Amino acid sequence: MESTLRRTWAEIDLDALARNYEKLRRHIGAQVKFLGVVKADAYGHGAVQVSRLLQQLQCDYLAVSSMDEAMELRQNGITLPVLILGHTPREQVALMIKHHIAQAVTCRAKALEYSEEAVRCGGELTVHIKVDTGMSRLGYLCAGRHFQTGVDGICDACRLPGLKAEGIFTHFAVADEEDDESAAYTRAQFDLFRCVYETVEQQWGQTFALHHCANSGATADWPETHLDMVRPGLLLYGYGTQAKKLGLEGVMTLKTTVSTVKVYDEGTDVSYGRLYTTPKTTRMGVLPYGYADGFMRSLSGKCSLMTDFGAAPQRGRICMDMCMVDLTDLPQVDVGDEVEIFGKRAAVEELATLAGTIPYELTCAVSKRVPRVYLQNGREIERELLLRF
Ligand SMILES: *Cc1c(COP(=O)(O)O)cnc(C)c1O
Repeated sequence: MESTLRRTWAEIDLDALARNYEKLRRHIGAQVKFLGVVKADAYGHGAVQVSRLLQQLQCDYLAVSSMDEAMELRQNGITLPVLILGHTPREQVALMIKHHIAQAVTCRAKALEYSEEAVRCGGELTVHIKVDTGMSRLGYLCAGRHFQTGVDGICDACRLPGLKAEGIFTHFAVADEEDDESAAYTRAQFDLFRCVYETVEQQWGQTFALHHCANSGATADWPETHLDMVRPGLLLYGYGTQAKKLGLEGVMTLKTTVSTVKVYDEGTDVSYGRLYTTPKTTRMGVLPYGYADGFMRSLSGKCSLMTDFGAAPQRGRICMDMCMVDLTDLPQVDVGDEVEIFGKRAAVEELATLAGTIPYELTCAVSKRVPRVYLQNGREIERELLLRF
C-alpha cells in the first residue's frame, strides 16, 4: 500500500545506512565479521529494507529477536545467516532448520528441547551458546561459584545430537558508559567470557567458529572485544554518543505537516486536561502526530519540534493522533508546511533525553501507521505503509 504522505512519515536514508556500515567495517578491520542487529523491525527502520541493503553490502550475519522476525526476512528474500537472540518454542525447530535459521541456546532445558526436536525431525539445528557474564538476563550463568556448572552445561549442550554449536556469545550491560566503574564491569564481563569459552573448548575438544560479544558500545570503544564478529544495532542506525564519535549519521528523519493554524485569544485553554492556557494572543498549529504515532505523552509541554524557520514549542497535552505547537514567533510557518520531529536537524538524542529515555525507544515507537519512505541516491525508491488494506 502506498501512503498519501499528507500526515506523518519517516524517511529512511539508505545511503546514510550504507555509509554507516562501510565506516564500521573500516573501524573493525577486515578480519572481523559483521552481524547487523535488525530486531524490532530494525529498530523501527524496516527490517526487510535494512537487511536487503546489508545483504547487498556483504554483511555476514543478521540477528532478530523471534522466529516471526526471522521468517519475515526469509519470506522477503533475505538469504544471509540469521540468528534468533530470544527464545523460540520447540514446535518451531523444524522450521528453523528448514530455513537455515540459527538459535541462541540459553540454558540446559532449552538445549535438551532443541536437541530432541532436531533429532525427531532428522535435521541439525545451528545454535549459538549464550553465556551470562553479568547482564543477568538470558544465558548460562557462569559468574563466581557458577563457573564450573556453567561450563559443564555448555559442554553438554555442544555434544547433544541434532545441535551444531557454531557460536558462543555474551552481552554487555554497560559497554556504552564511559565511567571507570562501568569500564571495570565490561572488562570483567569480557574476561569471564573468554575464560568460559577457553575452558569449554578445552573440555569439549572443539572450537566455536564464531565468538562474539560486541554490541554498539563495545564495537565503538572496546576493539579487543571484537573477536570473530561484532554485533551492533544502534551504531548502524547512527544514534548515540559513540555514533557521533565515529562520524555515523542518523538514518531516520521523522516528519509531519501542519494541518491547521488557528489564532487564540489570551486565556484560551489548550487540549485535554487544560494544561496550557495562552498567555497572550497565540498562533497555534495542529500537527497530525500523537502518541499513536510514537510520540511520548510524557513529553507534553516539554519539547519543541523543528520547522523550516526554527523550533516550535509543543503546547498542551499530546493527544492520540495530534499535538499542538506554538507558531506565534514563527509567522512564516503555515498549513501544509513540513515539521521535523527528529532527524537531520533535530537530534533524536535530544528528544530522548527530554523524554527520559534513549533513542532506541523513540525509533522503535514509530508506529505502523507511519509510512516509511526509503531514499537512495537522493531519490525515493520505496514507500511502505503497514496497515491491513
Ligand atoms: C539488541 C542486542 C544487540 C544490539 O545492541 P545495540 O546496543 O543496539 O548495539 C546486540 N546483542 C544482543 C544480544 C542484543 O539483544
